Amino acid sequence: VEEQTEYDTIAAISTPPGEGAISIVRLSGDDALPIVMKMFKGKDLTKVPTHTINYGHIIDPKNGETVDEVMVTVMRAPKTYTREDIVEINCHGGIVPTNKILQLLLTNGARMANPGEFTERAFLHGRIDLTQAESVLDIIKAKTDRSAKLALDHLGGSLAKLIRGLREEILDTLSKVEVNIDYPEYDGTEMITTKLLKERTIEVKKKIDKLLETAQGGKILREGLATAIIGRPNVGKSSLLNYLLHEDKAIVTDVAGTTRDVIEEYVNIKGIPLKLIDTAGIRETEDKVEKIGVERSRKAIDQGDLVILVLNASEPLTDEDRQLIDLTKDKQRIVILNKTDLPQKIEIDEVEGLVGKENIIQTSIPNNIGVDDVEQRIKDMFANGIESSQNAVIINNARHVALLNKAADSLDAVLVGIKNGMPVDLCQTDMRDAWEDLGEITGDSYKDELLDELFSKFCLGK
Ligand code: GDP
Ligand code: ZN
Repeated sequence: VEEQTEYDTIAAISTPPGEGAISIVRLSGDDALPIVMKMFKGKDLTKVPTHTINYGHIIDPKNGETVDEVMVTVMRAPKTYTREDIVEINCHGGIVPTNKILQLLLTNGARMANPGEFTERAFLHGRIDLTQAESVLDIIKAKTDRSAKLALDHLGGSLAKLIRGLREEILDTLSKVEVNIDYPEYDGTEMITTKLLKERTIEVKKKIDKLLETAQGGKILREGLATAIIGRPNVGKSSLLNYLLHEDKAIVTDVAGTTRDVIEEYVNIKGIPLKLIDTAGIRETEDKVEKIGVERSRKAIDQGDLVILVLNASEPLTDEDRQLIDLTKDKQRIVILNKTDLPQKIEIDEVEGLVGKENIIQTSIPNNIGVDDVEQRIKDMFANGIESSQNAVIINNARHVALLNKAADSLDAVLVGIKNGMPVDLCQTDMRDAWEDLGEITGDSYKDELLDELFSKFCLGK
């Protein structure tokens, strides 16, 4: 039905900036081939078969000078990423000729692509749904193999399939209720419709709740498990941090965009991506008198999904220790008794009474004693949420969580309405809202602002 004519031809450099051996300039649109032919010396690309790679040179049409030796990939619609004609110019002369080629394209009829515009077109032409578009974004940003795998699953459309199933159930229910309303002569209608509506609503809501349960695991995969290491000066925080950051496990350090005083470090602990909070605070005080006051710890504790509280077993418990124990009592917590290689002065019974024996791990960090237990404990605490859903669909995207919550709220409203004897057609409105909310997840009912916001997060050339 919608053979679009309104799309102009866009171009962008689609390889990351830098001194890579090859960079690719990508074009998409009806005029992709004619535009390239204005500057290509080689075969007539408008005549070559689709999905072929063609050798030649890019020539500046103004002065006939050779810009670069290139390989040009020709992919004709509709079997392309955007479902439009795509041409990719593989140049190998570095960033200067690459920029020059892009400039030539822009002065010969192409328009600079917006961030994410190639993916946006793939969506607009119906090649992918919104969850798949978001997965492209997630793959670009994925911090661990698991996150990447999850994104790939969504790219395959597994989430969309599930959401569409839920929408069908709702629609089916709505139509059945409709029939009952339209043909009340069948029997005691009001009873039947209400009962039916209630049963179906509960069923769908259960499925949504289950999806939402995977969100914590999803959030960990996506953003990392926010982890705060706290404790008095000199108890062994930096030693623990350095152990956890052991080089082969560090994924990202000094993430771009974070301010200097809140350096975030990511580390993969037995498959759980940890985002270590306030590591600068632990490090910067190394040579000075440490002043990590309770105030600073309080902030780190607040932000943490997990708090690791380090105590020094070779000293008696202090008031500051007790304060930190109290501040973390409602948190998912691991308490480390460190320096067990030294003569023990801490009152173990008191600590056990305060935090629970099962939450304590004894370590001697420089001697590598107990540290693997710490990692294992982290895995035991959080792997479930992640691993149990290994083959299921996991929600890992804040927008999806928000919409699922909205849909769940609408379904709750249906149930409350039924309970309060509200007329069925009013309950139906809430049910329809849930249907709309779910549709927004896949983009089956989407809003323009949403698209703009979503695709603007992409890199150029994607
Ligand atoms: P932080 O101030 O809490 O970060 O503590 P550090 O990690 O900087 O450690 C303070 C000092 O204690 C350093 O000299 C470490 O080598 C030492 N240390 C850390 N853990 C242990 C341990 O388990 N046993 C012993 N004997 N010394 C330790
Ligand atoms: Zn330190």
